[in-house]
Amino acid sequence: MAENKSKKNQTGAKQTGKKSTQKKELFDVSFYHAWCKACGICMAFCPKGIIKAGKTGHPEIIRQEDQDKCFGCRFCEIHCPDFAITVSPRNLKRRENDV
Ligand code: SF4
Ligand code: SF4
Repeated sequence: MAENKSKKNQTGAKQTGKKSTQKKELFDVSFYHAWCKACGICMAFCPKGIIKAGKTGHPEIIRQEDQDKCFGCRFCEIHCPDFAITVSPRNLKRRENDV
C-alpha cells in the first residue's frame, strides 16, 4: 500500500514537472502584399506548409490554427526576394519576468 502511494507520487511529479512550466512560443507572420510579386517561394518552402495562395495569388495564412503552427524559423522572411514578410513573436516580453 505504501509502495503504491509512493509510485503515484513519483508519477505525479513527473507529469506536473515540464508541462506546467513550458509554454509554446507563438509567432505572427505578416505579408505586405503591395511589395509581394506572388512568386510562391514562401508558400513552397515553409516547413509547416501553412502559407497558401489567396484569391489574388498572394500568400496568406488563413486559419488561426495554422498561424499557431508557425515556429518562427523565419525561412519565409529571409528568402522573400521583396522583403514583404515579417515574422515576430506574438507576445513580446518587455521584461524578463513578464508572463
Ligand atoms: S516570397 Fe515574398 S514575393 Fe514571393 S510570394 Fe512570398 S511574400 Fe510574395
Ligand atoms: S517562420 Fe517558418 S514556419 Fe513560420 S510561416 Fe515562415 S517559413 Fe513557415
